[in-house]
Amino acid sequence: MENITDSDLQFYALVWVFLSFGVAAYGNSMKVGFFPTLLASIFLSPVVGLIIAAVSGKKEAVKTCPNCGWQGLLHPSMAGFCPACGKNKHGKTKADYQTNVVSS
Ligand SMILES: [Zn+2]
Repeated sequence: MENITDSDLQFYALVWVFLSFGVAAYGNSMKVGFFPTLLASIFLSPVVGLIIAAVSGKKEAVKTCPNCGWQGLLHPSMAGFCPACGKNKHGKTKADYQTNVVSS
């Protein structure tokens, strides 16, 4: 058995907290966010925090509508259509596509 001294424990605690902040910085770019990742890392372990962050998936980027300048998160059901003006990045509305389908 190795003797673990107080200074060893302090060192491990520092490494633990340091790793937790590193994982939390990663969690900040993920859906779970900075603080939940930090808490999970400190109280469970940085490895657990890392897994939680990875599993939660990437934070969705804020989209800007090129037609009206609306900014926000697009819901998957909108399929790329802006909720403010109803146009997609090609400047077409859902109705435009439906008319195309009918006429062709
Ligand atoms: Zn728009």
